[in-house]
Amino acid sequence: MSPTIGVGGSAKVTSQTKQFIEMGDILSLRCDCKECGASLSLPIGFGLAKSLLSCPKCRKPWLQFEGGTYQITVDDFAKRVEELKQLLPTIGCKLYVEIAPEADS
Ligand SMILES: [Zn+2]
Repeated sequence: MSPTIGVGGSAKVTSQTKQFIEMGDILSLRCDCKECGASLSLPIGFGLAKSLLSCPKCRKPWLQFEGGTYQITVDDFAKRVEELKQLLPTIGCKLYVEIAPEADS
């Protein structure tokens, strides 16, 4: 295990540390509204996309495009993640998702 990097120091981390999330650690999907900034966190599971159709605060449509919706794509992703998580104890390897390093701001 790599040590935890403290917060508040000014030291710059130059070495590239790859960051991974274990598949089983994926719990929810967070959605931040591009319009008003409202944040919504939903447990991963099939059917979550219906909660993402529009922003609960400003009502901006989130998944719609002209003539359709990405609801099926989002629900499919959530369903696959859920299925994979259930398979984890029975398959022969551990699964990790690599995430991009946080950009310097
Ligand atoms: Zn909004």
